[in-house]
Amino acid sequence: MQSRGDWQEDLFVASPLRELVPDDHILKRVDAVLDLSWLHEAVRGCYCQDNGRPSIDPERVLRLMLAGFFQGIVHDRKLMREAQVNLAIRWFAGYRLDEVLPERSSLTRIRQRWGAPLFRSIFERTVAQCMEAGLVSADTVHIDATLIRADVSWDSLTTRHAEQVVEVNDEKAASDGDDEPPTGRRGRPRKKKIKPQKYSPTDPDATMSTSCKQYHLEPTYKQHTAVEDKNGVIVDVSVTTGQANEGKQLIEQVERIEATLNDHVACVTCDAGYAHGANYATLEQRGTDAVIPPPRIAPRKKGTQRIPARRFKYDEHHDRITCPAGSHLHRKSCTPSTNGRYYRARSSDCKNCPLRERCFSAKAVSRTILIGEGYTALLRARRRKEKGWDESTREKYKRHRWQVEGVHGRSKTQHGLSRAIGRGLTNVTIQSYLTAAVMNLKKLAKKHPATKDQYRLTQACTRLTTQFYALWTSIRQHHKINTPKGYAPPPKQLFTN
Ligand code: SF4
Repeated sequence: MQSRGDWQEDLFVASPLRELVPDDHILKRVDAVLDLSWLHEAVRGCYCQDNGRPSIDPERVLRLMLAGFFQGIVHDRKLMREAQVNLAIRWFAGYRLDEVLPERSSLTRIRQRWGAPLFRSIFERTVAQCMEAGLVSADTVHIDATLIRADVSWDSLTTRHAEQVVEVNDEKAASDGDDEPPTGRRGRPRKKKIKPQKYSPTDPDATMSTSCKQYHLEPTYKQHTAVEDKNGVIVDVSVTTGQANEGKQLIEQVERIEATLNDHVACVTCDAGYAHGANYATLEQRGTDAVIPPPRIAPRKKGTQRIPARRFKYDEHHDRITCPAGSHLHRKSCTPSTNGRYYRARSSDCKNCPLRERCFSAKAVSRTILIGEGYTALLRARRRKEKGWDESTREKYKRHRWQVEGVHGRSKTQHGLSRAIGRGLTNVTIQSYLTAAVMNLKKLAKKHPATKDQYRLTQACTRLTTQFYALWTSIRQHHKINTPKGYAPPPKQLFTN
């Protein structure tokens, strides 16, 4: 029978907001595990204690920000519009239905006032909470980097002619009667011309980079993420400009992780972008197993007769190199290089060598080899890979794929990290910390049921399953029933809660 509702607007709501938010709502579950009692003390220095207008409650503001990040509403304007009508956000942030919400610009100013270190400590506290809940292990940590598109338009991009600027500056210095020679790079003059680079004056901290050679360059930042293996908890994040090499961030990141977890990281997995000799050597010294595929040796081009550098044997003990003809190459002491150390053959040795033509060009007088930092550790890693990684190493590297890359995928699709919401390195770093904190809190909330009723139900289910499994085992033993093919007993942790 068709009916028509007799709708009349409520004059008042006689029910606490908590009752109106479903128990399985993410904000309700997170509220059960979120502890911000320390926040007021931590931000005390950011406010004047005896003068000025009363501030917005710091806990309420942070709860508003977190509520937005949980639901992927990362822009303040959009968040405040949503909070106006969203019961769950109002309840989570501690605003009554008729209470006026803060201006959206207040959130921006508060983020700037608190600064990135405070948001780092919010993130670290979520890691500490996960550790208390037994979710974190320092056995294996997966590290990777991802690009975050900067918040600038294509139209704002312009070209920076670095070389021209340097030339103009030099000329200006000379015309000013500056007798000092321009200080620059020592050694041979640079042969390659510096390419004019694009950048955006709207956000000069962002640099042009791409995740794949097939894609065009974009103004970006780079987030360096570390995820532990046990439950996929994020244990460290940092943000650099897009062009920063992730391999050079690795050791600092491992040090930070060890400081956060207060434990030694036993194994680190990374992709080939981190395969630097210096990384292998440092991780070896620290006693950390490096599951990093070494860089592949490029195949020789057809028709290239030059003897490749790998045929020159490095002797670490005597710090010299032996060439294919048996001569020794010694270290050049006068050439400073950030890439490694140069070794040069004696011109007298090369002069009468039968391999001379295949060894170096006609213009040069002897062969020079560059040995990068941690070269021997790199060779050991390469040998280990060529022999074939053992089963557990292969398994760890497989998990690297879906653990850390999964975190990047979720942070971009569910929490709005695909594009920066603010400009400048500090704003993007704050966004990155908040995203990581929210993802950790979600893990924590999953572990803890939201209400006592749910908790009791979980306990009862666990008890029932344990009893059923014990009964089934005894029946099997009594009647000598074989385990069905493909059957695996439930994991132990199911029965320990
Ligand atoms: S040319 Fe010089 S460096 Fe090359 S193989 Fe002969 S002796 Fe060794």
